[in-house]
Amino acid sequence: MREQVLAACKRIVVKIGSSLVASSKGGLRIDRIHRLAQELGALQAQNRQIVVVSSGAIVAGLSHLAIASYPTELPLQQAAAAVGQSRLMRAYEMAFEENKHKIAQVLLTHQDLADRRRFLNARHTLITLIQLGVIPIINENDTVAIDEIRFGDNDTLAGQVAHLVDANLLVILSDVDGLYSQDPHLNPSAKLIPLVSTITKDIEDLAGSSRTQVSRGGMITKIRAAKHAGRFGVPTLLLNGETPNALGEVLEGKPGGTFFASDQSPLTSRKQWIAYTLRPKGELLLDEGAVAALTLRGKSLLPSGILDIKGTFLTGDPITCATQEGVPFAQGLTNYSAEMLQRIKGKKTSEIRELLGSLEYEEVIHRDNLVLT
Ligand code: GLU
Repeated sequence: MREQVLAACKRIVVKIGSSLVASSKGGLRIDRIHRLAQELGALQAQNRQIVVVSSGAIVAGLSHLAIASYPTELPLQQAAAAVGQSRLMRAYEMAFEENKHKIAQVLLTHQDLADRRRFLNARHTLITLIQLGVIPIINENDTVAIDEIRFGDNDTLAGQVAHLVDANLLVILSDVDGLYSQDPHLNPSAKLIPLVSTITKDIEDLAGSSRTQVSRGGMITKIRAAKHAGRFGVPTLLLNGETPNALGEVLEGKPGGTFFASDQSPLTSRKQWIAYTLRPKGELLLDEGAVAALTLRGKSLLPSGILDIKGTFLTGDPITCATQEGVPFAQGLTNYSAEMLQRIKGKKTSEIRELLGSLEYEEVIHRDNLVLT
């Protein structure tokens, strides 16, 4: 199954981790960037369409500014990113130009994708670049991205980009071979897992909370990105980018890395956007009847099943639905503000009509705007 999917995929988002292209002591790894550009350029020449998401701006900037350790302060990370991003792009441009490949820089923040119009705009631009044969090189716009509008790590960004450009495959290149049955640093008998059909809780637990010195992500953000891409029908491949031609060989059917299969019945683009791109502004705690209606019977959410409301949100905002115990299970767009819901929660439609004189929407969240997570 893995071989067929890999052979057929045309549009590939390739995420390149910081440690592959930069080190805080030595700066940009120019040789590595040239090798990767040559390999990705070769795939592009074989009629695949490559979209790159590259980290490395912060580390490259830190090195240029002679700052030895990764700062915890956001302004310093942002300043380093501003210094490093142009150096990173210059290196990519020179490397890709060697084989006459054209590239483009695209910098995104989470806000660009959370607004549906901006999301569609970004999509049109990227697809136009792809059609022109240009290889977009995307990074988070770290310099302006404060916490609320930040993806936070480029694994998450790459998962969203896979959705944004309707990719057939997400490839995450880092300095590890893939997902192991145990932590390979602690246990030498740990085995590489070649195929993950479904991302279960056990698989997520395997990731632990591993983090590296030079990037914001770890195995857990990679698995989460794979999960999100999978919900949209995009499979993910984790590969070691230190190995020459790792991606080219795997696409030809050779073994290597960990392949995460995508869901059999993927969400539509809009539902994917509701569930994974938008960030919830509040939460509703629901009674058992409402939980069953949403999870088992495919119904919309009515005011009568709401027990409690958390957060402040307005009509149209994304909110989470949780069980009485607070376990979240769905996300959707609300027809009512938090303030209004406080007035109508637990009430039947007829009671609300009496209370308000009229009723604009029967549903608090219409089924079309609701996704089980
Ligand atoms: N955007 C950051 C950079 O270019 C990387 C974030 C990450 O490590 O995932 O340096």
